Amino acid sequence: SNRIMLGPLVAAIDQGTSSTRFLVFNAKTAELLSHHQVEIKQSFPKEGWVEEDPKEILQSVYECMDRTCEKLTQLNIDISNIKAVGVTNQRETTIVWDKDTGEPLYNAIVWLDLRTQSTVERLINKTPGRNKNHLKHKTGLPISTYFSAVKLRWLMDNVEKVHEAVLSHRAMFGTVDSWLIWCLTGGKKGGVHCTDVTNASRTMLFNIHTMDWDPELCKYFDIPMEILPKVRSSSEIYGLMKSGPLTGIPISGCLGDQSAALVGQMCFKDGQAKNTYGTGCFLLKNVGTKPVMSDHGLLTTVAYKLGRDKPACYALEGSVAIAGAVVRWLKDNLGIIQTSTELEQLAADVGTSYGCYFVPAFSGLYAPYWEPSARGIICGLTQFTNRSHLAFAALEAVCFQTREILDAMNQDSGIHLSQLQVDGGMTSNRLLMQLQADILCIPVVKPSMPETTALGAAMAAGAAEGVSVWSLNPEDLTEVTSERFEPQINPEESELRYARWKKAVQRAMNWET
Ligand code: ADP
Repeated sequence: SNRIMLGPLVAAIDQGTSSTRFLVFNAKTAELLSHHQVEIKQSFPKEGWVEEDPKEILQSVYECMDRTCEKLTQLNIDISNIKAVGVTNQRETTIVWDKDTGEPLYNAIVWLDLRTQSTVERLINKTPGRNKNHLKHKTGLPISTYFSAVKLRWLMDNVEKVHEAVLSHRAMFGTVDSWLIWCLTGGKKGGVHCTDVTNASRTMLFNIHTMDWDPELCKYFDIPMEILPKVRSSSEIYGLMKSGPLTGIPISGCLGDQSAALVGQMCFKDGQAKNTYGTGCFLLKNVGTKPVMSDHGLLTTVAYKLGRDKPACYALEGSVAIAGAVVRWLKDNLGIIQTSTELEQLAADVGTSYGCYFVPAFSGLYAPYWEPSARGIICGLTQFTNRSHLAFAALEAVCFQTREILDAMNQDSGIHLSQLQVDGGMTSNRLLMQLQADILCIPVVKPSMPETTALGAAMAAGAAEGVSVWSLNPEDLTEVTSERFEPQINPEESELRYARWKKAVQRAMNWET
């Protein structure tokens, strides 16, 4: 038959909080050739608990790979052109499994889960001066429910099977990248137990200066180092696929989703930044090869290390727990929309929140507050308020939260971003993009190929030593086309609305104490 000649292709597994995707790119042009996406079930067994099934996550990866390869074959594209696979994933989400049986010992505890709130309060109370930043000099992170170490501690304390497996040296810990790479490279029959520096930097067990697991941090959380994966760079061959349609292909890229988006948006220079709107919202700014600590509630994290002998680059990060998740809540819990795409029209019908402010602090507040006891509020309601105003307020909430992060970043660096590069599932909402430009008073720039997270992972995989089908040289990189949203309201009005938002945030704080 007439096979299309394209040159080398590179694939990416993008395992996010709400869905899994598999995508195949042309390594010369960065064109997306085919992809498939599968939703992931989330369970909420108790208030504040969020879990996913590790086996369902793995199955979804195989399903997406199978379906994408079928689609490529239908397009007359030879799947043997796929030279490497990269992995990118929801970060911090914690899994423990048995290395002899290959079975997970509990559900995955998802990053925004709040069950460790009391553990976190206990840990903070033990620190000198009750300081949540006690471990920040090593980790770049505040002590919070968000990171893996406290979730792992909870599993060891509360799940008998985990406790036993740790004692009998059968337990393996991993974030989603480690779980997937271990399974895909053979699982109990010789799977590779590894993670990359970006994922490791979100566990609170990793020292971002030495770039390795830190014995003191492990002791602090009382976690045996033998259960931890080996830490590797973000771009090197970890192992070969042992089953599925791509058997024998190297897995050679691994980045946490936010790092992958930074790479996919080509933010390789000091000072370049991107904001990703998915379940949560994450603004990362590349700060170069030396870690910069924030005085304004931002995290310091490893941005990427694209090769064993390449330097690590760091980022300042502002994390917002609830962005797209508020849309899902309006859909699943209130039922005011049937699909997330309906939200845009509903909000556009009124074009204002009519003084209604919605602070979706469902999982406490992350950056810049790091306040686990905050809870969501809706205020400013009148007889006139209807579901359209609420929809509008929900979209505005995402924009205001981003504004708070950007302000913190500007204060930390003294340099103001002149525009914001964006991506993620929620950016298909054009009203949201316009509101964001209005509330930030700077242009918002969205690439026309929205799958930047997957693109970043594919680039890392294709550039790995021993694969080398993708150049990361900025001169060779394809120009991206993009769409710009210019601010349209006057800055005074923007400031007024932002000031009201801040008042609403104060009311959401310390709700539980
Ligand atoms: P993740 O990587 O966290 O799984 P995605 O980048 O896939 O997230 O984005 C999915 C999120 O975006 C969901 O929470 C969904 O509610 C939200 N979303 C998707 N489309 C829209 C839209 N048109 N308007 C508002 N929210 C949307």
